[in-house]
Amino acid sequence: MSSINYKRRKVLKQFASMTALGAVNMLRSPGAFAARNQAIPGFQGSIIAKQDANYEERRLSMHWHHSVPKRYPDVMVHAETEADVIAAVKHAANNGQKISVHNTGHNAMGSSLRNGGMLLDVGSMANIEIDETNKLAICQPGVRSIQLMAAARSKGLSFPTPHCPTVGISGFTMGGGQGWNWGNNEGMACFSIAAADIITADGQLRHASPDENPDLYWAVRGGGPGFFGVVTKLWLNLYPLPKAIHASNYIIPLDRLDETTAISDKLVNQSLDKRVEFINLLAHNPVIPADTPAEQAKICFVTAFAFGDSEKESLELLEPITASGLGEMSVHKEENLPFSYEGLYNKYFSLQVPAGMMARYKVDNVMTNEPAKVLHDLADHFRKAPSHHAHVLAAMGLNIKHHDDACFSSLATTYVGCYAIWDHEKDDDANFEWLSKCAPIMDPYMKGRYANEVEPRFDPSRLRQCFSEEAWARLEQLRTKYDPKGLFHHYLNEA
Ligand SMILES: Cc1cc2nc3c(=O)[nH]c(=O)nc-3n(C[C@H](O)[C@H](O)[C@H](O)COP(=O)(O)OP(=O)(O)OC[C@H]3O[C@@H](n4cnc5c(N)ncnc54)[C@H](O)[C@@H]3O)c2cc1C
Repeated sequence: MSSINYKRRKVLKQFASMTALGAVNMLRSPGAFAARNQAIPGFQGSIIAKQDANYEERRLSMHWHHSVPKRYPDVMVHAETEADVIAAVKHAANNGQKISVHNTGHNAMGSSLRNGGMLLDVGSMANIEIDETNKLAICQPGVRSIQLMAAARSKGLSFPTPHCPTVGISGFTMGGGQGWNWGNNEGMACFSIAAADIITADGQLRHASPDENPDLYWAVRGGGPGFFGVVTKLWLNLYPLPKAIHASNYIIPLDRLDETTAISDKLVNQSLDKRVEFINLLAHNPVIPADTPAEQAKICFVTAFAFGDSEKESLELLEPITASGLGEMSVHKEENLPFSYEGLYNKYFSLQVPAGMMARYKVDNVMTNEPAKVLHDLADHFRKAPSHHAHVLAAMGLNIKHHDDACFSSLATTYVGCYAIWDHEKDDDANFEWLSKCAPIMDPYMKGRYANEVEPRFDPSRLRQCFSEEAWARLEQLRTKYDPKGLFHHYLNEA
């Protein structure tokens, strides 16, 4: 049996038959769409305005799934260089246009698509260099997960890259970033941003690091999808490459959820090393027919990835799980499977999925210290999900601590995300309603939210709740300092 169908997210039909980068690059290729001849002094990239024939085609390609928000920028500006970004920012400022920044368009709420103004796309800027001596990756924003992973690995290094190969590195890290082997990075990739180049609203390039513009450095480390500037380069700390990766998977009937979460809690709190990535996932059993009654079809999938320095070490890291009793409760289990990093992408986040499964998509979440209670309370609602692609994912053992030099401030042990995923537009309302009803069930256990996967459309305050009150107030002060006229769009649904 393949556990491909358990992966956290599934990728668009059209991407399935292409390589990830090839697919994205095809959509961006300057030759693929006629550039509109609109003067932005010094700008060399391509420009498409609302009145252009290919506007809607390009707008739809700005979002990675099919439920593209009905929001329409006046102009979409595709930068190829840092100089293009500076030219575009100055032009927008001089012409009273608001800017939304777009990278690889994976943000589920589509925060880069706004009504009016300029969408500034930096996703084609995707060069990467590895500074082996200082263990740094120097990345342009559009570098994809798989690109960073491969470049770092070629020097015996690694980064907690996104679990899906196509996700772009700037949106991921700026919003937080739960990547592969998160335990080696205090839970979130934003804490590995060593420095950034940022174009601010005045068109100036500012370097942000602990020593230069430390307030901008603080803001870029977690500011996410409402940041008041354009990041054109990131310096990312790299870590030793784990030499042996192994994974174990358990499929457990959903009526044994409480026993499963009790064991999971104990493992995470008492036995598991930080090099083990541990997930509980409520999902539809992929090996039975889709029309099987919900009470028989829903399962809890437990998966653990160990990132050790030798096979022996990696298997030892998984031993507490093998001995935990999860195996005895399982209807199916796979233990101690060896993987390369690419192998993990292929098995858990492969592009080779049934066509259209990822057609329409919405996500909402809580950060919590009580994952067992959240999953218990969500279970009945999960059974009634209108689509069998829906799932609930608990990423455990994040143990996120406060950092004085980062605005990321949802401090909790666990991320719980509810994913509504469905195929057809006619089912939009039912699926959105299902997701909206997850909120009051999980919110009593909330210690914060994760900005990269939040759904603010049924409650705008959900985006604010991604930050502590202090962090939000400081972000607002810095926005006033660096973007006094509000050139950059605020977080979605904020004024
Ligand atoms: C298939 C899939 C897999 C995913 N896997 C993971 C995962 O494993 N772990 C995880 O934590 N998250 C994951 N995510 C969520 C992902 O981290 C967020 O969706 C993230 O926002 C995507 O980044 P992006 O560069 O595509 O952003 P976009 O959608 O292009 O942009 C989102 C917003 O980020 C801001 N932004 C992005 N780049 C810049 C920049 N250079 N300068 C200024 N602002 C910028 C802008 O405000 C923009 O509106 C996944 C999402 C998908 C769809």
